[in-house]
Amino acid sequence: MGFKARAQKSKADSGKDDKAKSKKSAGETACAVKSCAKWADKNLGGRSLSFDDATEMWGNGNFSSAKGRVRVCKSCYRSWKKETKNDDMY
Ligand SMILES: [Zn+2]
Repeated sequence: MGFKARAQKSKADSGKDDKAKSKKSAGETACAVKSCAKWADKNLGGRSLSFDDATEMWGNGNFSSAKGRVRVCKSCYRSWKKETKNDDMY
């Protein structure tokens, strides 16, 4: 009996969770790389590179920057890191 009540409750909870999750998966900060459509939010693994770093990687004009910083998504950051071989502190 107790199990049934719990199952129902968790079902309701997970429905709530899904809603919150789908809201979260749409970020607020778009990746600065123009050819990329991912999100650069911190909670989604986004990182910030310097303007020079981004220019080296993607070329001037292929990304947008704000105040000298370039917000990129997780996968762009990783490919940048791979490119620069900036060792393995991740
Ligand atoms: Zn990206």
